[in-house]
Amino acid sequence: MKINGTDIYWNPILETLPPIKLRALQFKKFKRMVEWAYENSRLYRRRYDEEGFKPEELQRWEDIYKVPIIQKEDFRNAQIREPWPYGESLSVPLEDVARFHQTTGATGQPVYMPDTWADWEVRTECWAYALWAAGFRNTDRVFIPFGYNVYMGSWSGHYACEKLGCEVVPGGILNTEERLLKMKELRVNAFMATPTYVLKMADVCRNKLNIDPREMGIDKILCSGEPGASVPTTKKLLEDAWNARVFDFVAATEVGGWAYECAHQPGGLHANEAFFLTELMDIDTGDPIEELHMPGKVVITTLDRFGHPCIRFDSKDVGMWDKPCGCGRSFRILKGGVHGRVDHITKVKGVLFSPIAVDEVVRTIPELADDYELIVTKEGPIDELILKVEMQPEATADQEAVKSKLSRELRLRTTLHFEIEFHPFGTLERPHIQVHRFKDLRAH
Ligand SMILES: [Zn+2]
Repeated sequence: MKINGTDIYWNPILETLPPIKLRALQFKKFKRMVEWAYENSRLYRRRYDEEGFKPEELQRWEDIYKVPIIQKEDFRNAQIREPWPYGESLSVPLEDVARFHQTTGATGQPVYMPDTWADWEVRTECWAYALWAAGFRNTDRVFIPFGYNVYMGSWSGHYACEKLGCEVVPGGILNTEERLLKMKELRVNAFMATPTYVLKMADVCRNKLNIDPREMGIDKILCSGEPGASVPTTKKLLEDAWNARVFDFVAATEVGGWAYECAHQPGGLHANEAFFLTELMDIDTGDPIEELHMPGKVVITTLDRFGHPCIRFDSKDVGMWDKPCGCGRSFRILKGGVHGRVDHITKVKGVLFSPIAVDEVVRTIPELADDYELIVTKEGPIDELILKVEMQPEATADQEAVKSKLSRELRLRTTLHFEIEFHPFGTLERPHIQVHRFKDLRAH
């Protein structure tokens, strides 16, 4: 939609709503959702009754903090009961459910996620904000290089592309080489994938097809599924590999796509505050964080989806607020996007450690290949960090010199010592998502 001669906003009214009006809108929607869940979801009614909370206590903003936090485990436990497979989380009649999806189950039993048709429209609308902000328009031909299966992400992205009027090409079933050939054949100019897979595609393009990915005619890539595209060094690597602009976007099955990067690339993501209430909480004390640059755990409420309410959901993502973006959106900025997950941010030798920091360091050393493996283990009572890396096949630098540079950079960035192992190029695992590079083998 054009505003003042530009068309930077998907929804110029909501995206530029003054903060005071935005908070009033969020509070109104939040209260409506809590009342709905208490009336219609056996899970929420039980949880709130157990904690002695009543929806009528919600009179002013601060009352939000009285509402009990909900965990993924609560959804898992609720789905043991009827109606199959959603159980007590379901807040609409089963016949109103129009779509089934589920979480990947990477951290345990998958959560089954129902959406009514209205819920599904909200999900795709949230993705549309992200795509539009990244410059996707109806002139784009967009490739989605995944088999969508029962997982939410690519389905939402696909429908949102259609909503914008993009021409969308589903790339399931095919292997990476076939996908690249299809992209070339159809002259697609945009795609969406995890950062790890974006790099893998570039690698396969160069080394298996002998095509420079920069010659593929891609001008923009939307990344989600892991935090890499907001890490400056990784973003540069992705953008250089394809000669395209790369935008980060955060989505979760339980909540939907809740934060996106705009064309200003402000070094962070806009929380979509029209559709979500996004809170930051101190990781140890649970106190709300409103200050800038203080890391906290992200707690999210979906404000507009009624089939499976998600109220004050502990996303386990870590983020921090930043100053407003210059693009004119009033939605707050999460500096550096998502900084990993609370359950991956761990104490090593008493120091708070985020594996994403290692990603950033490895990417700054050009002699190293993109793939690595990070292991935390225990040597007696002492934590030990082992980092397995590969040299680029064409690298001519001395391995010992690269090792001491890597060790120095890691110590600067994390204050920790790493045991560094070199492995022959191409022998480390190449996962599609980054978190699988990190293995914590200590008994908890
Ligand atoms: Zn912006």
